[in-house]
Amino acid sequence: MNERVGFVGLGIMGQGMARNLLKAGYNVRVWNRTSSRMDPLIEAGAAAGASPADVAANCDIIAVCVSDTPDVEEVILGENGILSGVQAGALVIDFSTISPQATIDIADRLGAKGVKMLDAPVSGGSEGAVNGTLSIMIGGDEDQVERARGLFEAMGNTITHVGKQGAGQTVKLVNQILVVGNCLAMCEALIFAQAGGVDLERCLNAVTGGAAGSWMLANRGPQIIDRDWRPGFTINLQQKDVRLIMQEADALGVPVLLSGQVFSLYRTLQQAGLGEEGNHALVKALENLSGLQVG
Ligand code: NAP
Repeated sequence: MNERVGFVGLGIMGQGMARNLLKAGYNVRVWNRTSSRMDPLIEAGAAAGASPADVAANCDIIAVCVSDTPDVEEVILGENGILSGVQAGALVIDFSTISPQATIDIADRLGAKGVKMLDAPVSGGSEGAVNGTLSIMIGGDEDQVERARGLFEAMGNTITHVGKQGAGQTVKLVNQILVVGNCLAMCEALIFAQAGGVDLERCLNAVTGGAAGSWMLANRGPQIIDRDWRPGFTINLQQKDVRLIMQEADALGVPVLLSGQVFSLYRTLQQAGLGEEGNHALVKALENLSGLQVG
């Protein structure tokens, strides 16, 4: 609790996560590229950082939650990045979902300066970030996981040390195969229900609690019926994760049939300008194929 905590990247996820650290009593210094996104956290008691380097210079543990691999590289290794301000002995925790191999390379660069890193991607959506109920999958050294356990517990309720550096990101991609699989199944099922002429709300009530239930169905099924495309997780970010799955599967030499289909379906929606809608808008790609509209 005495360690000073920094938080870089206050998007949909970072906002809720940083707020939960403040609620748990941590001293938090924040930075976000679009500075207005820092305001609600400053109001809640956080200090304003001037840059990732400034956050790193003033903190013992620095959390990062930005979009993609090049973005993590930019805020850690780039100009005014964490690496240029951080002190030996500090710990960087990356909560973003990025490439497992790039994670290992970034950790090596930090390690050369005596700085530790954990990859700690999360699952549980914007709801999990706000409520402090994220699943956190962590790669890196055991002693650093224990060092940061209080922070993890402030943000999540399933905290699993899954292996060495990069293993957190690999497990997150396992998670994403399951997420997009569940999403595609949900969308296909709702098109089928629509075609079958059943009441969609009653249909969801009937199947959500049984063997076919999933987080995706319980949380995003009702949104589809309401045609509410507000994102917990955007199509653009979901597509980034599917791309990471395909790249990693290629390197590992394993087929990923379902993920490949979802990649193509999301591509059609991105081309139609829908990339900032929620990932459950995948149903629109199936609507285009079937000529039906759900809801
Ligand atoms: P988001 O709302 O789009 O926010 C992205 C954040 O990253 C913003 O703070 C953005 O700054 C910052 N950023 C992006 N590129 C940057 C760069 N080059 N330099 C500095 N800052 C940069 O995304 P999110 O939903 O919070 O997702 C963040 C990470 O969590 C992603 O890796 C995502 O895959 C992962 N994740 C998301 C969810 C979810 O349900 N949303 C769930 C699990 C994991 P600006 O404000 O300036 O744009």
